[in-house]
Amino acid sequence: MNLGGGALFGSVAVAGAAFYGLAATRVTRPLLWDRFYDHVIWRGSTASPARFALSFDDGPDPENTPPLLDVLERHGARATFFMVGKQALRNRSLVERVARSGHEIGNHSLSHRRMIFLSRTEIEKEIDAGADAIRDAGGGRTSLFRPPYGLRDPRLLSATAKRGYRVMLWSVMPWDWTRPPATWIEGWLRLRVGAGSIVVLHDGGGDRSATVEAVDRVLPALRERRFEAVTLSELIERPA
Ligand SMILES: [Zn+2]
Repeated sequence: MNLGGGALFGSVAVAGAAFYGLAATRVTRPLLWDRFYDHVIWRGSTASPARFALSFDDGPDPENTPPLLDVLERHGARATFFMVGKQALRNRSLVERVARSGHEIGNHSLSHRRMIFLSRTEIEKEIDAGADAIRDAGGGRTSLFRPPYGLRDPRLLSATAKRGYRVMLWSVMPWDWTRPPATWIEGWLRLRVGAGSIVVLHDGGGDRSATVEAVDRVLPALRERRFEAVTLSELIERPA
């Protein structure tokens, strides 16, 4: 009996460790259950001309978002901002400025928790209250959702599918949240951005001046190669 209990505990522990190990280490690549949902998107079409999408997570932020918006405007680039609902409510004028500037806004949950550790009810609340906060702050309605840390499980995927969201992951991640120098982020983008790329960067969660500087430097270089920065909806819904 003890042996049976131990074996059962052992297999549950192994399955649990495998589950969370997988989730923690492989979030930047497709997970087993992603294939059962066709609203999970990693990149745009590679058949379209040289278009790619920049996305910025965790804002809006009073230190980082204004200079980033200046840079994007200067280069005639549009991007997508995955906002945290609580940040949106704290920075309403920035939400309005992002929307006014022709950028797209996506839902990055209400409070940026690791959603795979929440109950189904809490998962749904994070999604819905995030959307409500962005709308109340002047950001309008969005059908794009990006789970915090990219962490997702079948409950999150079915909750987002039921609500008509597309779950937007990414194909290029320069790890800017680990605070590398601007030249490193810029180099990563020069090497990896191609047709249909979805780039994930951050304008919230700390000092992102290196990110802003890298974007400022890389946009002219990409434009020289005839790459155009568009919003995510443009990238995925209107392939040329
Ligand atoms: Zn985030």
